Amino acid sequence: RQAAYAALRDVQPTSLDGKRVQVMINAGLRDDIANLSLTGADGIGLFRTEFQFLVSATLPQRERQTRLYRDVMDAAGDKPVVFRTVDIGGDKTLPYLRHDDGEGEENPAMGWRALRVALERDGLLKAQARALLEAGAGRTLNVMFPMVAEPWEFDAAKAVFDGQLAYLKQRKRLLPEAIRYGVMLEVPALADQLDLLGPKISFLSIGTNDLTQFLFAADRSNPKLAERYDWLSPAILRFIRRSVRSLDGFNVDIGVCGEMGGRRLEALALMGLGINRMSITPASVGPIKELVGKVHLGEIGAAMEGWLASPPADLRAAISEWAAERGI
Ligand code: PEP
Ligand code: MG
Repeated sequence: RQAAYAALRDVQPTSLDGKRVQVMINAGLRDDIANLSLTGADGIGLFRTEFQFLVSATLPQRERQTRLYRDVMDAAGDKPVVFRTVDIGGDKTLPYLRHDDGEGEENPAMGWRALRVALERDGLLKAQARALLEAGAGRTLNVMFPMVAEPWEFDAAKAVFDGQLAYLKQRKRLLPEAIRYGVMLEVPALADQLDLLGPKISFLSIGTNDLTQFLFAADRSNPKLAERYDWLSPAILRFIRRSVRSLDGFNVDIGVCGEMGGRRLEALALMGLGINRMSITPASVGPIKELVGKVHLGEIGAAMEGWLASPPADLRAAISEWAAERGI
């Protein structure tokens, strides 16, 4: 099978009804860059910038950040890279970045993390914004904000980028050719407000790891709860469908960057919801490319409509059977 997947490296994943599906990888370290050419993925749909912070004993200097971002974009060439601003805090504590109150939190996953830290310690976000804008000079820069719960958080984070952009402009520095901003959908509170962000963002990336733990109130890192929810449940699929539909009519690319997109039946279900952009772990690129080639998007879309309108008792079994009947 490995050989079969390797043979798919140069294949552009296209469905049976001729629709191109973007299969991208998640990355976070310099060493991950090689996975782009190894898998032949369409780009890096999630670059977790906090990894550089987590492996460093001190706050990474801005120049070091710039160098990493530039190297990643150089290596990616024409393929897009989506940089997510730091998702630290919570359980990913850094010795050099502590909450003013000092001690640990009872619920770190829903605590002082990600954009919440970045907006409060805005020196951190300013440095990262400058590093990204400098690294993106002369090219298209994709910036994504994690854990956005309210539209104002997007506005505040973007304002930090605008401030740094104005600074660079004033100094007549080479700027990015284009800047595309996006948000992750990880906090359910954002879902019913996506239309408010519609005119402001270029893309939305559904972070199914956090989104499902918050939807089901089930800690994603607690193995005891792993059986508490199924990604192929009406609760999740209807939620995603509603979120995607709320952006109809806006010029917003929609994708998934959580682990869900890297699993066969789950990816099939996502395609049935009209999602044609998956950013996944590199090992899943081969299997998902193969899957795309066997799927008729129109058919799975119609089947999904039926299932979600009146869900069968075991939706996973229904999807699995549907796939087996078609040799998927
Ligand atoms: C997610 O929450 O689905 C996600 C992709 O982000 P992370 O796994 O880094 O929290
Ligand atoms: Mg997340």
